[in-house]
Amino acid sequence: MGFYPSTILTRVQTLLTRTPKADLDEEIGSLESQPSPVHNRIIAHIDMDSYYASAETKRNPALKDKPIVIGPEPKEGKARGVVISCNYAARKFGLRSAMPISEAWRLCPTAVYLPPDFRYYESLSDEVMGMIRSKVRVFEQVSIDEAFVDLEDVVGSFEEASVWVSQLKEELRSRTGLTCSVGLAETKTAAKIATDLHKPNGITIIGPGLIKEALAPLPVSVIPGVGTKTELFLKEMGISKISDLQAIGADLMKRRLGRTGVWLWDVVNGVEKEGVREHELKSFSTERTFEEDTENWKAVDELVTELSVDLAARLKAAHVVFRKVGIKIRFRGFETHTREVRLATFSKEQHLIEREARTLLREFHEKKLPVRLIGLRVSELKLETADQSSMTAWLEKKGEG
Ligand SMILES: [Mg+2]
Repeated sequence: MGFYPSTILTRVQTLLTRTPKADLDEEIGSLESQPSPVHNRIIAHIDMDSYYASAETKRNPALKDKPIVIGPEPKEGKARGVVISCNYAARKFGLRSAMPISEAWRLCPTAVYLPPDFRYYESLSDEVMGMIRSKVRVFEQVSIDEAFVDLEDVVGSFEEASVWVSQLKEELRSRTGLTCSVGLAETKTAAKIATDLHKPNGITIIGPGLIKEALAPLPVSVIPGVGTKTELFLKEMGISKISDLQAIGADLMKRRLGRTGVWLWDVVNGVEKEGVREHELKSFSTERTFEEDTENWKAVDELVTELSVDLAARLKAAHVVFRKVGIKIRFRGFETHTREVRLATFSKEQHLIEREARTLLREFHEKKLPVRLIGLRVSELKLETADQSSMTAWLEKKGEG
């Protein structure tokens, strides 16, 4: 009892889940001196697994199962700089992100070392995040490969939430080839901590009313936001586990750690109030450098078509429409210009991006200089589903809910 049937949920790690609800109410009733936990929220934290390395494998399946390191060229172990990211196959050799690249080389010289391609990671991220965003009302992207969603109005229980999450994982995998790990809890930070407990490709659930109990045995270092400095400070106070933190009163925490202490107390006691809140989407852009500088405007036009197709696909995936189209052009010698036009109405059409970009570029034809780079940008975005209100208004209306 208490665990979800494994027939519906494969790979689900239930950290602590308890049903039926009556037991839970009794238990909470007995903790009268404690503030009541944040109830009725179902927050999922979604984190793509070894994202940069997985993205590289997606476009080059031959890399599958090989150790992959994203970072500077190791130069036979003589290079400086650190590992930006590595996959799980590389981690088996002891490699970690932020490790000196020279050390990574020493541990695993046969790994595939690749320079980062952030532009590609970003466009793939738009696709992934767009898919997630389209399924929920309350969405918050926190990094290139991480998001929170509030499932309160999507599902009725944690059990339904875990089914929803399994389906999302499957859809992400079949459409993008990428896997992710998910944490489910009543607060954001607990959900994020849960995600990290079973990676890669896991689902970890901290059931309703159980955050305090679930976090108790974990080291304080699992709390995102507790850096080395805070960790050392806590150590001096004799605190290494979250249960030690839970034993400290709110007043003392506040006196010792100020605002961090107030937040930390809420987090470890399962009463963090911070909700999932969408950040404003500002723009999508893409650019490409010609392999050789060109004076052939037909080649420029072709690139404009290609870039506009790319942008339109990203808009579609993210379910947003644009009002402004902008271009960037760089000539040999790095002379760079940008131009922008605002349309009469919002649009999601690829041909409009293409047409406006070409028009904006026309004035540069007479420069008679070799073109090095072309960039396209769409901005003043809003969600396609929001009626006539702007994206910002939509967020203000829904964000605090
Ligand atoms: Mg990740």
